[in-house]
Amino acid sequence: MLIFDPNSHRYRDSETGRFVKAGDISQLIDREVNRAEVRLKGHARLLAQGKINIPEFQARMAQTLKEAHLRNAAVGAGGVKSLTPTHYGKVGAELKKQYKYLYQFGKDLADGKLTSKQAIRRAGMYAASARTSFHEAEFTSRGKVGFYAKRLLDPQAKHCDACIAHQRPNWTLIQLITPPGVDCQCGGRCRCRLVFRKL
Ligand SMILES: [Zn+2]
Ligand SMILES: [Zn+2]
Repeated sequence: MLIFDPNSHRYRDSETGRFVKAGDISQLIDREVNRAEVRLKGHARLLAQGKINIPEFQARMAQTLKEAHLRNAAVGAGGVKSLTPTHYGKVGAELKKQYKYLYQFGKDLADGKLTSKQAIRRAGMYAASARTSFHEAEFTSRGKVGFYAKRLLDPQAKHCDACIAHQRPNWTLIQLITPPGVDCQCGGRCRCRLVFRKL
């Protein structure tokens, strides 16, 4: 089991007492994103089979996204009980953005602009947005404790222009750093890396 240590803003393994590696936490987030992708594509498949209509499809998409964003935000904040109105506000803003895309998605479907294959693919692409809610929640919580961070580009990965503009190679107050996925064209579908240091 994972126990959250609010001071270091890290998780410990309850059995060994050791800190859990940041990489293990991002794997947890990746798994949530993958699960959401499967579910979202499933909704598009039901729509393609005529088992649900477009409004029902949009409602199911919105519900799956909401759950995935909230679960990832909880991991970033240090547990569901650590979620404050600020955290919920950020999740809400992120979801609102996704719901806007979802509205357009529904219109494109109604206009017959997409094949089933395209629709399934497009539905799956919403999942990655849930990663942003993890980062935003983590930033919100760490900002309260007091942290410096660096935001680094992975030299092996492709980055959108915004990611390049958001990179911070020197220790910077966390409040001055943009979490990955926020205000960028790639929506966090990149490998921007974060490192943290306490004030
Ligand atoms: Zn980007
Ligand atoms: Zn990036």
